[in-house]
Amino acid sequence: MNLSCQIRCFDYNLSRDKLKGFTMKKNVVQFQKGFSLPDFFKEYGTEEQCRKALFDWRWPRGFICPQCGHTHHCVLGTNQLYQCYHCHHQTSLTSGTIFADTKLPLTTWFLAMLLVTQTKNGISALELMRQLGVSYGTAWSVKHKLLQVMKERDDAKRLDGIIQMDDAYWGGERHGGKRGRGAPHKVPFVAAVATNEQHHPIAMRLTKLMRFSRSEIACWAQKYLEPSCTVVSDGLDCFTAVTKAGCEHVPIVTGGGPGSVKHEEFTWVNTMIGNVKRALNGTYHKVSDEHLPRYLAEFCYRFDRRFNLPTMFTRLAYVAVRTPPMPLRLLVLAERSG
Ligand SMILES: [Zn+2]
Repeated sequence: MNLSCQIRCFDYNLSRDKLKGFTMKKNVVQFQKGFSLPDFFKEYGTEEQCRKALFDWRWPRGFICPQCGHTHHCVLGTNQLYQCYHCHHQTSLTSGTIFADTKLPLTTWFLAMLLVTQTKNGISALELMRQLGVSYGTAWSVKHKLLQVMKERDDAKRLDGIIQMDDAYWGGERHGGKRGRGAPHKVPFVAAVATNEQHHPIAMRLTKLMRFSRSEIACWAQKYLEPSCTVVSDGLDCFTAVTKAGCEHVPIVTGGGPGSVKHEEFTWVNTMIGNVKRALNGTYHKVSDEHLPRYLAEFCYRFDRRFNLPTMFTRLAYVAVRTPPMPLRLLVLAERSG
């Protein structure tokens, strides 16, 4: 079973077990219970509890040597290294995962995952610093490693169905000056919302681009869209390139201006563009252009799992132990695009 299938099965079991009897009604997203602090500390309050949980998420069927795949092993010393009987390879519980080489207790990581997943619009590194009792640099690194987990998880999934698509821009001049397309110092990102036949939004992808060109859109569509989907966009020329990924394209010429925002074919994508800007401005003091892709991924990750708030913590942890290490030097490097 490949990684994607494993995660899907895990997600499905969690949803089935924990959301039994969970009925869809008004405000179901806002009023769902979440994972409370008392429940969290009962389950993951000690280092031992966290180690046990991490082991079970990483090796649900028991230890498997990452080098040779054998299962017979012993546990060595106070560092609790797992040594394979077959090839003698030694591995720690966190090596090869996003938690690799950490000097923080697992309890701190677990609390960070709780705060990142259970707060409405996410939590800034500054707030995380206060809540975890660590330095700002450590909080920033923890936060961005967890966002990287979210980003890599969603990068591996493609949107399907009817896709509302639009161009969007981050930053630049807040007041005055030109807005939207062609405005200086703004970072372009593509916004896409997949809807079902009832026109409800199912999943979302926000990706930073270098520019809105046919070649960029073609690459983006090949990576993030199923060939079976139908893309609805306005008349911006570059969007026609989604057909290069095998998608059907339905351009709707809106004439631009505020009136186009009201066009019902674009209701969801326009709402989401407004929501993500509000959320980022409200939560973060500053979102640097080079790290924008991770912040956008965080917003999408949260949106796509909004009906499963209580399980979001466990799902993030499960994927985190399957996400390769991301050293700080790579984390701070500017990303070329989403
Ligand atoms: Zn081995």
